[in-house]
Amino acid sequence: MRYTPKRHRKTPGRDRQQYPPCAYCCECGGEVYGEETVYLIDGRIVCHECLGDFAERYFASDALKGERLKRGGNTYETY
Ligand SMILES: [Zn+2]
Repeated sequence: MRYTPKRHRKTPGRDRQQYPPCAYCCECGGEVYGEETVYLIDGRIVCHECLGDFAERYFASDALKGERLKRGGNTYETY
């Protein structure tokens, strides 16, 4: 029996192949169709499935350990 990988994105019960995709996700290359919610970030299209990974990289420069936080009024600063 051959293993067939699941397609990344699929809406069951609907043949979407008859409509051409509007665009492709810049992360996974998945097809983006008209009714789908995607994120346009710095001109790049990111689908919902890829948003988490993308955001982690996008905000990597803001990442820090909790132990480095100190309260500075209503916001936080780093030690
Ligand atoms: Zn994607």
